[in-house]
Amino acid sequence: MKETSSNNGNKIPKTLMFYYGIAFLVILIFNLVIMPKILSYRVQTTTYFDFMNSVEAGDVKEVYISDTEINYMKEIDGQPFYFKTGIVDNPQLPQILQEKGINYTAEIPEKPNILLSLFLTYGVPILIFAFIGRQIRKNMANKLGASGLRIRGQGAAKIYKPDEDKKTFDDVAGQEEAKESLQEIIDYLNNPEKYKKIGAKCPKGVLLVGPPGTGKTLMAKALAGEADVPFFSISGSEFVEMFVGRGAAKVRELFDQASEHAPCIVFIDEIDTIGKRRDSQLSTNDEREQTLNQLLTEMDGFEGNKGVIILAATNRPEVLDPALLRPGRFDRQVRLELPDLKGREAILNVHLKKVQLKEDIDVNLIARMTAGASGAQLANIVNEAALRAIRMGKSHVSTSDLAEAVETVIAGTEKKNAILSEEEKRIVAYHEIGHALVAAKQSGSAPVQKITIVPRTSGALGFTMQVEENEKSLYSKKDAYQKLEVLCGGRAAEELVFDIVTTGAANDIERATELARNMVTRYGMSDNFGMMALQTGGNTYLGEPGRSTCSPETARLVDEEIRDIIAKAHKNATDILKENREKMDELAEYLIEKETITGKEFMEILEGETA
Ligand code: ADP
Ligand code: MG
Ligand code: ZN
Repeated sequence: MKETSSNNGNKIPKTLMFYYGIAFLVILIFNLVIMPKILSYRVQTTTYFDFMNSVEAGDVKEVYISDTEINYMKEIDGQPFYFKTGIVDNPQLPQILQEKGINYTAEIPEKPNILLSLFLTYGVPILIFAFIGRQIRKNMANKLGASGLRIRGQGAAKIYKPDEDKKTFDDVAGQEEAKESLQEIIDYLNNPEKYKKIGAKCPKGVLLVGPPGTGKTLMAKALAGEADVPFFSISGSEFVEMFVGRGAAKVRELFDQASEHAPCIVFIDEIDTIGKRRDSQLSTNDEREQTLNQLLTEMDGFEGNKGVIILAATNRPEVLDPALLRPGRFDRQVRLELPDLKGREAILNVHLKKVQLKEDIDVNLIARMTAGASGAQLANIVNEAALRAIRMGKSHVSTSDLAEAVETVIAGTEKKNAILSEEEKRIVAYHEIGHALVAAKQSGSAPVQKITIVPRTSGALGFTMQVEENEKSLYSKKDAYQKLEVLCGGRAAEELVFDIVTTGAANDIERATELARNMVTRYGMSDNFGMMALQTGGNTYLGEPGRSTCSPETARLVDEEIRDIIAKAHKNATDILKENREKMDELAEYLIEKETITGKEFMEILEGETA
């Protein structure tokens, strides 16, 4: 059953006619049946004279006489109508009523509750009707959505058409590594034979990971523009919101659609909304879980060589279900990080191209002012600057507009501290160089691949990527001490240079303490206890803490020994840094200047002549 889009177009007015018809019917019923009923229940006031006339005429069927008024019911054309009138002292009334055979009593009977009875007889059916109608409408919307049509903002994955507002990799500044990774995918989609010949499989799923505003969505659009294949795009939140009760079916349809159009790219933005870790908590969400399960099944279902590539984006990879990240599903991760100085300059340049500029814009200055800003924030800064220029009645954006905009945008963000001040930058730089320098002096080779002081996805301020020279599965006591010294290096540098203690070392301290504790209680590396296990259980892989197996007095001694081990490592680290103070300054200055330093550059400075 394949519907063409023109077919779908006709369906909308038809359904509308249907509902107009129903509305008309309801109004008709209301006027014909309910209105007279309401009128008849209304009690009208009449004169005593009218009452007596009606009694004489034999229209009155029932009479209720109270102390203050007479209520009576008259039948007109078989319909009961209610009336009331005042009391006139008439001792003959009971006799007259009796003669006419009219039922009379002194009490007013409970009048039927008009509203309730109306509701029961008419309201309930109407409500049921309305509910069914809504269900029908919802089903229809889903059906229409399934055929890939977008109806007023609803619909399944839409084919993204790059013609209007086409983005290419040139629009994404910086992020060179990510672009390179994606380039390979474009290449695969364009020449699959090349890969088939060798027997290589292209990754099925690619996950774009990075903090908000680093250009994940933009990167996906650029990929659509660069690769000459259909591009289906849907956001995880759309999934959850629109396809209530049909998430799993939707996933299936999406993949059916995709394999029809292969080779193609399917982009699921904000995948964390459907791909959250399934857990055994009470508050399970069946709907979401089924959607996720279907997604997993579908990803397993199609062959790697079919030419469908699933691209997804998230800024919370840690909440994703591990099953999603397994090989064969989203096995390739492309990281987009916050841009460093060079990257920020490039991004500013991309966005400055779109505004009228004075000739002498100092882009470097603006990039320097915005350490830690995301691409989205930088785009916003340029826009704010343009708005400011208009406000000031100018026709061009100048450096001062940009500088002002930095203040506005950064002051307007919640995470003000994400942008490092000059002073913080210096401290973070020295801290990271401290770690790296200690490591380099111990091994005599490049300790790191890359150090950067741009805040990372992980939340750590600086980041020192440590590379083990060769993977080890056995660590000697010396290795453990060296690792402790490296961990202490950061704090030691801060103390040495700034004579301050900051919170930046919290994670180092935690890791150093854990390592020292394990040395004493598990690895038998302590002088006092030797090969005595002071802790049992615990699973290194699951991160369970072990249980202490010693007496409280011993535990106190253990704590003391841990303290001594760390103090010794701290002192050694400080000594190393003191000896190499000049190199440390030189390296730190470089890092502050460039915000990123590679292992190669690091070693060049370390081994080069001191300037
Ligand atoms: P994310 O999806 O990662 O949260 P977006 O892709 O929505 O971020 O980025 C928002 C906007 O920020 C983009 O439309 C673009 O204008 C700007 N932007 C972000 N990163 C870059 C970049 N690397 N180069 C150019 N512009 C960028
Ligand atoms: Mg996004
Ligand atoms: Zn540190």
